[in-house]
Amino acid sequence: MSELSFRRQAILQHAIESGLLHPGNAPIACFIDDVVLRSNVDALHRAFAGNGEVSHAFAVKSGSLPVLLQMLRVLGMRAEVASEGELEMALAAGHDSRSIVFDSPAKTEGELQRALDLGVHINVDNFQELARIAQRMPDDGQPRVVGFRINPQVGIGSIEAMSTAGAQSKFGVGIKDPGVRERVVEVYLSYPWMNSVQVHVGSQGVAVDVMVDGIREITELADEINERVGGPQVRTIDIGGGLPVDFHSDERPVGFGAYAQALRAGVPRLFSGDYRIVTEFGRSLLAKAGFIAAYVEYTKTSGDRPIAVTHAGAQIATRTVFMPDAWPLRVLAFTPDGLPKLGEPLEQDVAGPCCFAGDLIARGRRLPELEPGDLVVMPDTGAYYASTPFTYNSILTPGIYATRSAPTPDAAGAVQGFRPIREPQTMEALLRAAGVGLLE
Ligand SMILES: *Cc1c(COP(=O)(O)O)cnc(C)c1O
Repeated sequence: MSELSFRRQAILQHAIESGLLHPGNAPIACFIDDVVLRSNVDALHRAFAGNGEVSHAFAVKSGSLPVLLQMLRVLGMRAEVASEGELEMALAAGHDSRSIVFDSPAKTEGELQRALDLGVHINVDNFQELARIAQRMPDDGQPRVVGFRINPQVGIGSIEAMSTAGAQSKFGVGIKDPGVRERVVEVYLSYPWMNSVQVHVGSQGVAVDVMVDGIREITELADEINERVGGPQVRTIDIGGGLPVDFHSDERPVGFGAYAQALRAGVPRLFSGDYRIVTEFGRSLLAKAGFIAAYVEYTKTSGDRPIAVTHAGAQIATRTVFMPDAWPLRVLAFTPDGLPKLGEPLEQDVAGPCCFAGDLIARGRRLPELEPGDLVVMPDTGAYYASTPFTYNSILTPGIYATRSAPTPDAAGAVQGFRPIREPQTMEALLRAAGVGLLE
């Protein structure tokens, strides 16, 4: 049994004992393992430590939860935000405005003004946005980090919707398009406050060598700009996030250490000490720290296919339900006591509570025969699942809980209790969000 699976079981049993999971009152709940989270953050810091200044911004869209942002801040993380809502969450969680990185392809005039007033690090998506910033750039002598998001156009990965460095991708300035490289250099020559470059090659499914190629492209661009300017104007290289996660096992195929090593080998200039490195990881920090647990409400057979109807479906695992081949999840079966369910594997569909036929977490999955009152666990769902619910069918959003573990936990867990990250939604809050207050 892997350490992750030991810990999941300990957390599940604690959650059942303390009523966070309850067949009647709390048929689904989500968990973040504080020990795994801390160890992932430590691994990231260790991997990139070296000559120069390095800082790590957590991609808030992967876990847009103020309590989590606060936990990560305490662990030494910055925050990368891509909307006003994410920005406000990071500020509410105590992130210093100058430690926030702002990426969004659709920043409004108001958002840009606020970002400039706050002094957040701005990654500029396109030339029109640059013109708006140039108009507003305050002449207050405050240090600011501003630079283009570059699309290095180095190719796409296995999930097209998650790949951002194709020739025609939606984000950033396509550096290989005719005339663009020169235009970009001219912008840096005209505006001394343009002092950074950024790339984010994609999220999940992009091969590490493609990510390294993209980062090499922008590092060479930074060198070229500084040469043309005749000084170290570009000081920051933001390499984005996107390190993939293995959803098929408890393994970490690439890991921060191996990624940083691949970068040291492929782009040694990045680590020369001449540049401040910023990273923006989300999924690789958080996915394996979290899981969803849901009760099986009913089981039945349709045609000759056994189906377990659970409380986890498209409302919580939206990508998995709509794009099952791109986002497969493991499903683990547990008894009502939180013990691994044993028994001859049987092909079953694991369905969710939403009212459409495709609301399936897994199709034809071989699992011990599920029965009402059993629990299904979806590991690796710490990022982009519980924090990003889909409000189809007006199903109450489940609670999310972080463990509080002993300072030196053993493999079996040493889980001492839970800290709520997000309370289960109340019916009152659901009705308010739906506009019940507007009834005449
Ligand atoms: C989504 C995103 C990230 C984080 O990606 P992960 O795959 O979660 O690491 C980082 N930077 C930008 C600009 C993003 O859009």
